Amino acid sequence: METFWITAMAVLWGAGTGLLIPRAAYRLSVQPEEPWRAACPAGHPFAGAGNGWLGRARCADCASYGPSMPVLAAGTAAVCAVLAAATGARPELVVWLLIAPVGVLLAIVDYTAHRLPDVLTLPLAAAALVLLGIAALLPDAGGSWTSALLGSLILGASAFVLFLISNRFGFGDVKLALVLGAVLGWYGWTLILIGAFVGYLLFALYGIALILRGRVGRTATIPLGPFLLAGALAGVLLGSNAP
Ligand SMILES: [Zn+2]
Repeated sequence: METFWITAMAVLWGAGTGLLIPRAAYRLSVQPEEPWRAACPAGHPFAGAGNGWLGRARCADCASYGPSMPVLAAGTAAVCAVLAAATGARPELVVWLLIAPVGVLLAIVDYTAHRLPDVLTLPLAAAALVLLGIAALLPDAGGSWTSALLGSLILGASAFVLFLISNRFGFGDVKLALVLGAVLGWYGWTLILIGAFVGYLLFALYGIALILRGRVGRTATIPLGPFLLAGALAGVLLGSNAP
């Protein structure tokens, strides 16, 4: 019964934060040399909460823009629901629910603009480690802060090596790996391997699917971030259910 209410609240949280993702995704989906978008496609400047960052992706003066609000609200709600159902009443659930909407935002921006902005990844890595440090001190914590810290360093270092030797990894993926290593590391070494493996497997399957559909040329430009994030989600679902 407790898990039911926790999951219900997670759905509301996911839907509410999911509604805020399209505007932020639209503003962040620019090339590295460009400034963040400051106006709607028709040129009306953003205004309102958080310097115009927080709000619906619908211009008061013209129309909606960016990715679909209902789709992202439903998708983020679903991610938060499975995280809550799997994790239950443990302190780390708060950390997962804070990371989840930012993770969805990162996946959308990487998919759209092929980048993982530092303004999201670096604070997210710091926040994940600090919040997991607090969670580890609370009753019913289901993981280890030490292995989260080491996981962040090791996955970050592994991604950095891959960044040096492979054109599949961007430097944004290295910074994302700091976040995902902390999250997966909370549940231990095995989950770091499983989460990274699932992420790369999904990436490879997606690439193969594109090749089979005759869109070979596009595989060179598949962003890795959304798949790494999906792999980490799978890792958390597995890790939180482990005995
Ligand atoms: Zn407008």
